[in-house]
Amino acid sequence: NKPGISRKLAVVGARGVGKSSLTARYTQEKFLDSYYPTIENQFSKDVTIDKKLYNLEILDTAGQDEYSMMNDKHLIGIHGYILIYSVTSRSSFELISTIREKIVDSIIPLSDGDSVDIPFVIVGNKTDLNALRQVPTTEGEELGKKFNCPFIEVSAKDNINVDKCFKLVLTTVNKFIDPPISK
Ligand code: GDP
Repeated sequence: NKPGISRKLAVVGARGVGKSSLTARYTQEKFLDSYYPTIENQFSKDVTIDKKLYNLEILDTAGQDEYSMMNDKHLIGIHGYILIYSVTSRSSFELISTIREKIVDSIIPLSDGDSVDIPFVIVGNKTDLNALRQVPTTEGEELGKKFNCPFIEVSAKDNINVDKCFKLVLTTVNKFIDPPISK
């Protein structure tokens, strides 16, 4: 048994938004220049954040669209989701809400009818392509507010906010797992 806290994350979003690039940037510190459509990969990384060691498993899913969504096996044992779109693609931004809904719907509600809260973080990738931007930052922020989840913009290519993004995901997951005690 490895020391450390085990966390399983899934990166979901439309094809071509940078799921593999973000995952590879974070776990292998490299950028994928050419486009290899993902079949499905799982990467691991041990990382220390706020003095805690985490054993991360990151599931880089095949691209989703309205017709092909992830199947249930994607949902088993996942602690948190990165909902990723590209700031250069409005359709990928719109797909985020659909994907989120599918994930929420597939979770079995508690017997008292309450739904289980699922940690999501919304991520807008490809900020380096500002000239091609179709989704302003403010719209990403608004979606985060609407779904009550954190939002961050990143560039997998230029390695901007990538570490911060995963740290945000882990702290978000922790809030769900160890909810703050209210007085
Ligand atoms: P996936 O289908 O969501 O896994 O997307 P990929 O990671 O395969 O990326 C799709 C394409 O976008 C590839 O050509 C990547 O090189 C490119 N890409 C990914 N992230 C970025 C980024 O932050 N900036 C730029 N300019 N291109 C990116």
